[in-house]
Amino acid sequence: MKTKLEYQSDITEINKLICEMYWLREGDKRSGFIYTCKEIGQEFDVKHQDIPSIVKINAHLVVLDCQCIDCGTTKICYTRSQLTRLDLIRWRCDDCWEALQKRMDQEYLEHRFKQHRLAEERRQTALKYINQCRSIQLSSIPSVTELNDVDKLLLAATVESIGADDLRNTVSLRDNLLLPLSPFSKLDEEILQHLFKRNLLILAPENNYEYVTINEEQELEIDFYQAIFEFTYSIEHLTRIMINAKSNKNTSALVADDQFKSWCEQVQLGECLSYLITRPRLNDLAPPIGDKLVSIFRACLAECSVSTMHYIIWKSVENAAAYVQKPSITRRHASNSVSGNIERVFGKIHSGSWNRNKSFRDASHPQSAMAKIFFDYVFGVDDGGFHYTIDELFRPYRSQRALEQVSYAALGNARSTNYSVTIALDIKQS
Ligand SMILES: [Zn+2]
Repeated sequence: MKTKLEYQSDITEINKLICEMYWLREGDKRSGFIYTCKEIGQEFDVKHQDIPSIVKINAHLVVLDCQCIDCGTTKICYTRSQLTRLDLIRWRCDDCWEALQKRMDQEYLEHRFKQHRLAEERRQTALKYINQCRSIQLSSIPSVTELNDVDKLLLAATVESIGADDLRNTVSLRDNLLLPLSPFSKLDEEILQHLFKRNLLILAPENNYEYVTINEEQELEIDFYQAIFEFTYSIEHLTRIMINAKSNKNTSALVADDQFKSWCEQVQLGECLSYLITRPRLNDLAPPIGDKLVSIFRACLAECSVSTMHYIIWKSVENAAAYVQKPSITRRHASNSVSGNIERVFGKIHSGSWNRNKSFRDASHPQSAMAKIFFDYVFGVDDGGFHYTIDELFRPYRSQRALEQVSYAALGNARSTNYSVTIALDIKQS
């Protein structure tokens, strides 16, 4: 290392000797100092603590082979520690450090500003799309009288579950901690999407710009889990829809409506899927849920109540948990075995070799607003969606309708009657 000692012009001879001894190094090595401050102090009868400050005032060491990487200034050291700690390759002088710091602060500010501007652009774009969507929706709101009964029930369940106190808008599904809308979060979103498409729920702009995205086809995509919606109808209309949903017993017509049946089936399927997700977690299992499992559940639900299905799932998970205890069986193997177990347990119950055991509803799967409105109020039963199959609930009302058909059939020939009944059903569905 090449260095050069430079002195102040007015330096005394003694101080010059002190500085020389202080900076004297073996072979000019960076930390090869020959004398300690104590030794120098003893030599000149000076307190050793005073040596560094005497040196600092009277001389400095120019490090000839160390230059500032930005401006090329040569490094100057006033104390030994400055020299020993010196980063010869990446040293930057104080001025250049300060300038660098300022540059970095500026860049950071610009970055923040840019992020802020982009966020604002995104917000404005989202608001533009939301407002376009709103005006289309507002121009085609169905009148309460033309609204079909199933949509009224869906709306009633939504108001009951996620209607805010003032009945003007919803709280988000994410923030709903009270009565669940349906048994299954995906079904919750489907219900909102359905009502949104029917223009019964409208996006509230300011609350939602974070929960929408504009996709590649320039369409608005809504995060139904987090978004907040305004109700289209007035408080008076919503209240009437709620009261009717809880009292109107037009059960035969509902039972004949395929849409009503489809939502009922989805509620029951949701009860099973929700239990299948949460129950195995107790045993650290996670059965894969795919179309095959859903079709198994649909087949089972045609014959078993949700209550029996919960027993079947419970039993199947218990079997899988026992299976994982066996050597060389992983949690994944065991998780995959659950759907096979469900089919097996269902088969035993179906063939009558096992009792049709039932489970009670547990606290982690409370009855949903959908289940109350679509089953309990329509059929006048307590937790009907849990304890009965769709067929058990629908049958009495179907036969009533069948009787009506028979009496109608008496008026003409059977074939033409069937035809007209089909037409009537089609109209109801659309
Ligand atoms: Zn510099």
